[in-house]
Amino acid sequence: MAAAVQPERAQPRPAESRDVLTGLMRGSEFERRLTECLASATAGHPLTLLFLGVDRLRRLNQSTGYAAGDAALQAVARRLTEWLAEQDAALAFAGRMGGDEFAAVLDDFRDPVLARARTRALLNRIRAPITIRQREVFLTVSCVVCPRLLPGLEPLSILRKGSAGVAKVRERGGNAFEILSPGAQEGPCCSVEMEAALRGAIEHKELKLRFQPQVDKGLRLDGLEALVGWEHPVLGSVNPHEFIHVAEDCGLIFSLGEWVLRQTCCQIKDWRFRGIEPPRVAVNVSPLQFASPDFVDLVAEILEETGVPGSALDFEITENAVLRDLDESAQRMHELRKFGISFSIDDFGVGYSPLTYLHRLPVDSVKVARDFTGQITKPSGSLALVHTITVLAHHRGLKVVAEGVETEDELELVQAARCDRMQGFLFGSPVPAAQIEALLRSRTSPAC
Ligand code: C2E
Ligand code: MG
Ligand code: MG
Repeated sequence: MAAAVQPERAQPRPAESRDVLTGLMRGSEFERRLTECLASATAGHPLTLLFLGVDRLRRLNQSTGYAAGDAALQAVARRLTEWLAEQDAALAFAGRMGGDEFAAVLDDFRDPVLARARTRALLNRIRAPITIRQREVFLTVSCVVCPRLLPGLEPLSILRKGSAGVAKVRERGGNAFEILSPGAQEGPCCSVEMEAALRGAIEHKELKLRFQPQVDKGLRLDGLEALVGWEHPVLGSVNPHEFIHVAEDCGLIFSLGEWVLRQTCCQIKDWRFRGIEPPRVAVNVSPLQFASPDFVDLVAEILEETGVPGSALDFEITENAVLRDLDESAQRMHELRKFGISFSIDDFGVGYSPLTYLHRLPVDSVKVARDFTGQITKPSGSLALVHTITVLAHHRGLKVVAEGVETEDELELVQAARCDRMQGFLFGSPVPAAQIEALLRSRTSPAC
């Protein structure tokens, strides 16, 4: 798609529609444009809105003076505009909503991993130090992303939710972002309804485990990833990205995570009982679950109850999961490794400081984020980056798994970049246990 971000200066508008300090649209003009664009959005071309609040602006004003606060707001506006221009979006505009709040609208990212990566890149860009009156100032923002916006949504209500969401992110310390699920955008009680439905989901057996194959360099089945799916009687198939987030917000992640781990172990036990020896099964562990004090005991209990050895499992931890306290995370991993459990860092490369993790955490492999695999065939894509990741990981004795391999061309390049294992639709989508059994029974023959 052509990069068609129009610098706002290039579009002459009445002076009163511009914010004098930053040159961005004022809130009322932004709302008008949002209403216009939302009306012409379609299911094939939805929009994303980002709402940002500058953290601790009042403190900067009071400690350094209001001119410093103004300079900070100008810097944020500039960085937001630069970031927007880099998004390769046909539609992109930003506004100052008043005080310390900004908003931007652009074409939808479509992929939640990409949305996270791009938003993180924006936050990182804003975080770079600026010099105000010979002083280095570090600005941070709190951000809420509202993806997949379509006609029918009330623009003002979305803006209100963005602003309320920013306040919540700030309450938790700021300098972070949150992605609102489309459910949460639609009505005031949607996330509450989602929460209630999720509570009943385990009980009503609406949650299902699906397994996706991983293959080795010779394309032989070498692992499985257990992924939770939710078939809601009314909502239909709900994307894990949406409900995991809600589960984390309302504390249900602990029982959901426990269910996933117990079900995975029960499935492994059942396969073994029937003479099927599965390869190591990867289980996604939420940051909150991993950090909970009784996690190690829970794992021990489930392993004992099912008789499954820890060596049958690999725990996939996302970078954010371990970010909070690296030493404590390493300690916990060491305890779990005593059971034979291995560890992978999931979605590697899209977080803040992954290289530190390679040095300080006892992990066995890294999973190159799907975002990078998808870009690997592009002329100035991610091939060099993926290659660098494999060089660094191999140097530490770690294996590299390429996620999201969809085409033969991507396969060729991830192999050229020396990835050790591959996962993606090219080798098989996540499917229920019964459907993967034929593959498990023929483990010695090539998977594709
Ligand atoms: P993940 O752990 O990175 O899982 C891989 C996701 O990529 C899965 O999405 C999978 O269906 C999808 N995928 C696999 N191959 C391809 C491909 O070739 N192309 C594309 N476009 N996508 C591919 P899914 O099942 O929607 O899960 C999304 C995320 O939800 C997971 O990302 C994981 O972070 C989270 N999740 C899933 N199950 C669990 C769980 O049991 N516990 C926790 N805490 N999180 C889970
Ligand atoms: Mg995973
Ligand atoms: Mg992943």
